[in-house]
Amino acid sequence: MRRLYRHADWTIIQDPNICAEYSAECSEKGCEAEFSITDDQQAADSWMYDHTARTGHRRFWQTFGNAVVVGPPPGSIVAALAADRASAVEHQCKPSQPSREPARTTA
Ligand SMILES: [Zn+2]
Repeated sequence: MRRLYRHADWTIIQDPNICAEYSAECSEKGCEAEFSITDDQQAADSWMYDHTARTGHRRFWQTFGNAVVVGPPPGSIVAALAADRASAVEHQCKPSQPSREPARTTA
């Protein structure tokens, strides 16, 4: 008996229901200032400019993170059905309240 197996193609897309996060951490020795915000890269960039203006520190560790979903590629019938379900969920990311204080207290 001959069997035919079909394997679905998969792709990774950004989860539209979860906000992206932008963070920056001052890398200067002895400085522990850091900043994190959701869905507002410009605010994270502004924080670094402000920190440099205030302290003269110019080196940062910048991170960006977002949730992803593994699913069928766009254009497939299954993807279209999934998109219809996803569009029924109303969700908008809004910038969080940033903390401008250092989050860590130890060196
Ligand atoms: Zn600093």
